[in-house]
Amino acid sequence: FNVPTAVNEPVKSYAPGSPEREEVLKAYKDMYNGQVDVPMYINGKDVKTGNTRTMSPPHDHKHIVGTYHLAEKKHIEDAISTALEARKEWSQMPWEQRAGIFLKAAELIAGPYRAKINAATMIAQSKNIYQAEIDAACELIDFLRFNVQFMSDIYKDQPESTSSAWNRVEYRPLEGFTYAVTPFNFTAIAGNLPSCMALMGNVVIWKPSNNQIFSAKVIMDVFKEAGVPDGVINVVFGNPGMITDTVMASPDFSGLHYTGSTPVFQDLWKQIGNNITNYKTYPRIVGETGGKDFIVAHKTADAKQVATAISRGAFEFQGQKCSAASRAYIASNLWEDVKKYVIEDVKSFKMGSPEDMGNFITAVINEGSFDKLAKYIDDAKSDKDAEIIVGGNYDKSKGYFIEPTVIVTTNPKYTTMVEELFGPVMTIYIYDENDFTETLKMVDETSPYALTGAILATCRYAVEEATKALQNSAGNFYINDKPTGAVVGQQPFGGARASGTNDKAGSSQNLLRWVSPRLIKETF
Ligand code: GLU
Repeated sequence: FNVPTAVNEPVKSYAPGSPEREEVLKAYKDMYNGQVDVPMYINGKDVKTGNTRTMSPPHDHKHIVGTYHLAEKKHIEDAISTALEARKEWSQMPWEQRAGIFLKAAELIAGPYRAKINAATMIAQSKNIYQAEIDAACELIDFLRFNVQFMSDIYKDQPESTSSAWNRVEYRPLEGFTYAVTPFNFTAIAGNLPSCMALMGNVVIWKPSNNQIFSAKVIMDVFKEAGVPDGVINVVFGNPGMITDTVMASPDFSGLHYTGSTPVFQDLWKQIGNNITNYKTYPRIVGETGGKDFIVAHKTADAKQVATAISRGAFEFQGQKCSAASRAYIASNLWEDVKKYVIEDVKSFKMGSPEDMGNFITAVINEGSFDKLAKYIDDAKSDKDAEIIVGGNYDKSKGYFIEPTVIVTTNPKYTTMVEELFGPVMTIYIYDENDFTETLKMVDETSPYALTGAILATCRYAVEEATKALQNSAGNFYINDKPTGAVVGQQPFGGARASGTNDKAGSSQNLLRWVSPRLIKETF
């Protein structure tokens, strides 16, 4: 039988006076003053340990919106044993029953939970309403719907048989339990990582980022209401080192689904390597990590289009997307116009709390990130090979606000051309318009990452040359567009090199990592 054809969830406008705007503002207010106490969720039960931390919005860090409970080692051990118990039934459940749960979750987010999940994302991660809507509502709904379709495609993929030998493949879930470690920056990723593994019949321990617990709670409420059985997805909070050590010490650990920083992913991989002889099966490792995503503008590019790619690609959600453009290479003949448009664009961005829907720029996630970014900006103010052409101010008195900042450098290896900053700072290098070929080589060699990148050009030969020269420099490569905003079902997302294992989020390739196929041959 066929599953429903997945379609992308339309993005709502939140125009003044629209019902969705009223609803999200009301949800925002209620949640802002609601003082929620978030328990962990283990074996279908709320678990409160009494050891709590407070949660505050990044744009108003003295205001407390609630608390959450931290795990001790025994809670993680409990979560593992109850997950393994739940696996007995869940892994045998017909796939259409699993699909039904997550299709229902998608509808719950599209309808009754939409305002709540968006408001939670605006508060917890300081996203403006548009960034919340395309993430927490649309992208998460898309992941849930499209994954069901990808799953069904996988199961249909069967080998040839003959009249005397019938071959079939059973796409079994992994033996043991899986571990999802999710980042603060996308509510959709936080929801997708545990749910796509569960959809394929696995049981999951899910550790959300401590900066995203407020919206992770809404995801879990949706999963509960959609009917995810007890023990299938267990949510634990707290010390990442302790949680990971406990998870990885278990011989039944069978897969890591990770999105976050490169150094943490590398540490997790090493830890798995160190324990490798203890596991019953080789754990699957899937990770999407950092980026130093580029924009290259050829001399034939349209200056206005280049400027828009820079200002949107670098500054949406304060540059806190793995895909955010953070280094640009602009042909010298375009620079005067590009500079003018970029400055105009950036100056038009209003900054402040997401509750005021006119604000495009809101706060960065936490004090650590703020201080790190402020330091890069200060260095650029005094370095002789760098100049700040717009932005450069910051203020953390109420929220962690950093102005969108554009640095121009004469040094293509300047620190902010090379290091991942994960914030609203873009660095531009202007190359001689006749040095396109050399510049492409430089783009490829400057950074260890290879997540996203863009070429802007009207000349097809230039597009072709860049596409070839940058073949390994980005897993998602954009022609005449900004390098962010991949849509599930349209642009499967991920990169290689230091950016991850490139098991494309939003594709059957990703879901295949969460099954262990058994081939059955029957002879007649
Ligand atoms: N998929 C997102 C995009 O294309 C980025 C995901 C991430 O930041 O990890 O913008």
